[in-house]
Amino acid sequence: LLRDEERDHLVRVLRLAPGAKIAGFDNSGGEWLGIVEDIEDRIVVCRAIGQEYPLVEAQTAVYLVLGLTKGEKMDWVVQKGTELGMAGLLPLRGKRSIVQLAGPRAVERVARWQKIAAEAVKQSHRVKEPVIEQVSDWADLLNRVPAGTQWLIPYEEEKSIGLNRLLDQLDPTRPLAILIGPEGGFDRTEVLWAEERLGARAVSLGPRILRAETAALACLTMVLAKWGDLG
Ligand code: SAM
Repeated sequence: LLRDEERDHLVRVLRLAPGAKIAGFDNSGGEWLGIVEDIEDRIVVCRAIGQEYPLVEAQTAVYLVLGLTKGEKMDWVVQKGTELGMAGLLPLRGKRSIVQLAGPRAVERVARWQKIAAEAVKQSHRVKEPVIEQVSDWADLLNRVPAGTQWLIPYEEEKSIGLNRLLDQLDPTRPLAILIGPEGGFDRTEVLWAEERLGARAVSLGPRILRAETAALACLTMVLAKWGDLG
C-alpha cells in the first residue's frame, strides 16, 4: 500500500493508472517491482511481482560528520552526498559553528534534510536512504555510528599526511566517519579530543583551503573513488 506523499506522487505527478509497473525500495538494499492494482482516495494498492538487489550501494559505509554551517550549505551536502553514495550524515555542533541549532528548530531542520535525502535517493536510483542523524554534540558521536568505525578529521594545520596516503593505512571493509569543520574550522582542542577519544586521524586535503561543503564532498568522492564504486 502506498499512501500520503507517495500516493500523490504516483497519481498526480506520474499519473499512473492501474496496470502500470512501478519500482520501490524498503531500505534493506532490495528493490521491489510491482504493478498498480487499484487507486483509491488515500491509497494506491500495488501487487509485488519481484525483488532484485541492484549493486547501487557503496560497499564501504562512509559517514559525513559536518560542523553546522549557515544557510543552505547543509542542504547541498545532504543532496550531493546522497547522490555520491554516503551512508549517513551527522550534523555536529562545533565550537566555531555560527549556527547553533537546538530544540524544535533542530528537529525541524533534520526533518528537512531527511526529506532532501529521500528525494536524492530516488533521483539517483539508490535503494537505501542515508541515515540523517539528529544534531549531535561531540560527546554523542560514538553512539551514532556503527561499532568499529574508523575516524578521519581533515584539518588544514595537518601538513604531514594527505588523505590518499592515509587511506592506505585504513581498512576499506570497516565504516569510515569523516569529521569536517564549520566555516571557521575546528578549534585545536576539538582536533585533540577527536584524536584522543575517537582515535581520529588528522589529515590534509591538500595545500588549498576548501569551504566546508567542498571539503566534505571532495573527501567523500576521494574515498569512494579509491575504495568504492565511484568512477
Ligand atoms: N579555519 C579555516 C580558515 O578560516 O582558514 C577554514 C576552515 S574550512 C573552511 C572548513 C573545514 O574544511 C575544515 O575544518 C576542515 O575540516 C576542512 N578543510 C578545508 N580545507 C582543508 C585542507 N586543505 N586540508 C584539510 N582540511 C580542510
